[in-house]
Amino acid sequence: MNILIFGPNGSGKGTQGTLAKDKYGLDHIESGAIFRKHIGGGTELGMKAKEYINRGELVPDDITIPMVLDVLQGSKNGWLLDGFPRSLVQAEKLWEALQKDGVALDYVIEIKLPREIAKARIMGRRLCENNPNHPNNVGIPAITPDGDKCRVCGGALSSRQDDQDEGAIDQRHNIYYDEKTGTMAAVNFYKNKKDGGYKFIELDGEKGITEIKEYLMSQLA
Ligand code: AMP
Repeated sequence: MNILIFGPNGSGKGTQGTLAKDKYGLDHIESGAIFRKHIGGGTELGMKAKEYINRGELVPDDITIPMVLDVLQGSKNGWLLDGFPRSLVQAEKLWEALQKDGVALDYVIEIKLPREIAKARIMGRRLCENNPNHPNNVGIPAITPDGDKCRVCGGALSSRQDDQDEGAIDQRHNIYYDEKTGTMAAVNFYKNKKDGGYKFIELDGEKGITEIKEYLMSQLA
């Protein structure tokens, strides 16, 4: 089982993705998290990627594409790919690689959310030290943290540096909502493909978390 998930930063992609991942026991392959691991480990790749990430820009394709394809190829359990592809070029390169390796894609999920709502949600987002996908957001009543602790496990919370920088958020959304060459172009590439062999599932990110979850579960076999 292999799944691709799209959604702007702040759309609940982590929450819904975790649900799909757990249902099938998939590896969660998240390009942003792979970069953060490299940065934390002080690797050469991490040092190169850091400046782009802090500005909210895309890390260049010659670094990103081989890095992600390499992790995908190493997956034994099937994958949920999150944060990649983020551009039309990446969408095409991924499709080529899957075709070449004879890897089937089963589902493509898109979470739709207007830009202004996504931005407010990002600024309220808090990260749990134990699990970054534990939902905590000071701006969303259903998932308000427990004081300054994670509402799921009580872990300490922090904010991502690039989440508190409005310029960086706008930059990330400029890329996401760009229908010509950006992430929406990648979404449309997969949405409009006639012979892809996968099911395309659209989720309304403005609905409540539980409602979205239930709809998603009803769409996954
Ligand atoms: P995320 O955690 O998905 O918000 O990713 C954090 C940052 O990592 C992004 O703002 C980009 O700088 C970089 N990044 C993540 N995925 C990609 C990608 N597919 N292509 C280029 N850069 C990426």
